[in-house]
Amino acid sequence: MYKNIMLKISGESLAGSNEQGFDFDILNDLSNSIKKLQSKKLKISIVLGGGNFIRGSSFSNGVVDRVTSDYMGMLGTVINSLALQSNLKKLGVESRVMTAISINRVAEPYIKNKASNHLEKNRVVIFASGTGNPYFTTDTTAVLRALELDCDVLLKGTKVDGIYDKDPEKFSKVKKFTKLDYNYVINNKLRIMDMTSIIMAEEANLPIIIFSIKKKNELKKVIDKETEYTIISN
Ligand code: UDP
Repeated sequence: MYKNIMLKISGESLAGSNEQGFDFDILNDLSNSIKKLQSKKLKISIVLGGGNFIRGSSFSNGVVDRVTSDYMGMLGTVINSLALQSNLKKLGVESRVMTAISINRVAEPYIKNKASNHLEKNRVVIFASGTGNPYFTTDTTAVLRALELDCDVLLKGTKVDGIYDKDPEKFSKVKKFTKLDYNYVINNKLRIMDMTSIIMAEEANLPIIIFSIKKKNELKKVIDKETEYTIISN
């Protein structure tokens, strides 16, 4: 049973079928799942992406430069983090948003020891603004914070419920992998996480679970091993 988890949810997943912004049903379901996990006294860290607002690499197009676009992307993660925190509060779940870029009025600065204290006190911690550096991603942020905080697993919520040999949305006969090693993901350039994050996870032997955020209550089922997902580990 995992005790100290890092949850990574991409911005695209939060948008659901919308191109931008939020699918509020998904946000609500996510908060309810987090509440169930919190009552089990799990330490819960969360990194949300920002792709439902801006991805620096595609937004920088000759009009806005790459570094500025990346900062804009990081600010998108702050918007997502505040939305989740607000929804969690409604459900009675205590949380803190810690940001790698100073925005004193809305979130605490990220300080590793403070984050650990919050987790000890059974508060959910949401890490906003990515690493605080351009040219990185929130996948890499999730691995980085997971290693800093000694998490025992990284749970990546996506639109699909694991890794398949072919795109399950395009093909009917597909095979889902239950377990893969890091090298398979790296050598086959599977785009389930960015390469920097996979390589960091491999070096630290941090297991990564790919699960569906579209299925209701899936997060709790993953923790209780009541559903099928793909795990990437050695
Ligand atoms: N970003 C960044 N540094 C970081 C994390 C994120 O510059 O440490 C920027 C980058 O532009 C990225 C955007 O924020 O495209 C949103 O993050 P990401 O693409 O990882 O979000 P997701 O795909 O998970 O929604």
